[in-house]
Amino acid sequence: MELEATNKATLTNRMEVLKHLQSIDNRLIEFTKKKETLLAALEKRRAQVQQRKELLAQKQKESKDFQKETDGKELEHKCLEEEIKKSRGKLFQIKNNKEYTALLSEVGSKEADKSVLEDEILSMMSKLEGLRVEEKELEKEIQGEEKELSAYAGSVEAELEVLGKETLGHQKQWKENADLLDKEALTQYQRLIEKDGLAVVEVHGEDCGGCNMRLTPQTVNLLLRHQELTLCKNCGKILYLPEQ
Ligand SMILES: [Zn+2]
Repeated sequence: MELEATNKATLTNRMEVLKHLQSIDNRLIEFTKKKETLLAALEKRRAQVQQRKELLAQKQKESKDFQKETDGKELEHKCLEEEIKKSRGKLFQIKNNKEYTALLSEVGSKEADKSVLEDEILSMMSKLEGLRVEEKELEKEIQGEEKELSAYAGSVEAELEVLGKETLGHQKQWKENADLLDKEALTQYQRLIEKDGLAVVEVHGEDCGGCNMRLTPQTVNLLLRHQELTLCKNCGKILYLPEQ
C-alpha cells in the first residue's frame, strides 16, 4: 500500500500528468482522424476506378450489340445479292416480253434496296469503328488510373504503418502516465475523454476553457489551493490555472 502511494503522483504534479495525458490523447485522436481520412480517400479513389470500369463494360456491351446488328445487315445484304443474281439468271430464260419487263423492274427495285442497305452498312461500320476507338482510349485511361491507384494505395499503406507505430508509442506513453495517477483521477479523466476527447482545460481569466462559463468563486478558491482535482461545475472538465 505504501509502495503504491509513493509510486503515485503527488497532488501537485498530478495535474502535470493529467495535462500530459491530454496531450497524448490529442495526438491519438489526431492519428485516428488521419487514418480515417486516408482510408476514406483511398476508398473514394477505388470507387472512382470501379465506376470507370463499369463504364467500359457498358461500352463494350454496346459495341458488341452493335456489331451483331451490323452482322445482321451484312447477312441481309448477302441474301439480297443472291436474289438479284438468281433473278438476273432468270431474265435470260424469259421469252415473254411482259414477264421480262416485270422481272427487270423487280431486279431494279432490289438493286435500289441493296444500295440503301450498303449505305446503311457503311455508316454502321464507321460508327462501330468510332465505338472501338473510344473503347480502346477508355481502356488505356483505366490502365493508367489503376496504376496510379495502386501507387496511391502503396503510399497510404506506408503512411498507415507509420501512424500505427506512432500510435503504439503514444499508447505506451499513455499507459506509463496513467499508471502514475490514482484511480479516482484516472477514472474521472477517462470518463471525460470518452465523452468528447477533452478532459483537461486551462482557465482563461475566470472562465472555464472548456465551456467558457464564468467559474464560481468557490471553484477559483479550490484551484488556488492546489489540493484536489477541481472540476468545472458547468461542464465537468478538469481545470488548471495557466502557468504564471
Ligand atoms: Zn466548463
